[in-house]
Amino acid sequence: MTTSRAELLRSTLQLGVGAAVSVEEFTAGPRSGWRAHFTDLRSLNGPTCTITPYGLKRYKVRLAFGDYAGSCIRQMRMAGEEQVISARALLNRIPLTYSLSITAGQDRTNWLVTDGLFSVDVAGNAVSNHGTEAAIAAVANEVAVPLLASMAELIGYDEVGTSVDEGNVEGNAIETTYLRRERSRRNRFLCMSIHGNKCIACGFDPVGNYGAQGNIIEVHHIEPLSALDEPRIYCPETDLIPLCPNCHRIVHTRRPFPYSLIELKAILQDA
Ligand SMILES: [Zn+2]
Ligand SMILES: [Zn+2]
Repeated sequence: MTTSRAELLRSTLQLGVGAAVSVEEFTAGPRSGWRAHFTDLRSLNGPTCTITPYGLKRYKVRLAFGDYAGSCIRQMRMAGEEQVISARALLNRIPLTYSLSITAGQDRTNWLVTDGLFSVDVAGNAVSNHGTEAAIAAVANEVAVPLLASMAELIGYDEVGTSVDEGNVEGNAIETTYLRRERSRRNRFLCMSIHGNKCIACGFDPVGNYGAQGNIIEVHHIEPLSALDEPRIYCPETDLIPLCPNCHRIVHTRRPFPYSLIELKAILQDA
């Protein structure tokens, strides 16, 4: 069974972004391009990400809003500080090897969506040949996921399904309130793209050991957000860490405040 390119793109985007995404294919000369938008917003009512082949080995990616995106933009302007920080961190995961320009000369670490003219143009990075699965996966994971995920963060989409680590830990020892936040696909994307997918405590590499089916690394919030009386500035780069299911379970054997990473490493050494 072959999966269409559009379907491959759609499932990759949906997995990284944590929102239902629709993808349409269009023809760009002899090749194919794709337009992706959030399924629950028609493309005219929200942001659309367009991936167009150019040159021999490159894609251009443009994020822009439809003509009737006013209410979506209003919603985005009401996003809280933590959402804005996450959205910027997500967009900033686009590798520096791509050229990136944000409307009105905004900076890639400090931008805001203020009106429907907001757009992001990304160009560059030679991919393998156009239309191959590897090329589509690269442009999706490196560019389109960060772009759409940052928009989803500001709009405030719910995750797809119930959880990323679904079915992972039986008789779960971890409290639901933590899980709800930890299971965000966008957090997962951020965490893995920053720290990789080995356990940061014991170094276990599930994918290296079990292959693709071993993708069982979990995302741990260093400080459970529900335990903070005084919210401090959220930093996705240091607050989210990848842990293997064993280490993650150990961390949460202390409640309400889980063991810190330093304490966990000490436990591992003493054992
Ligand atoms: Zn571990
Ligand atoms: Zn945790």
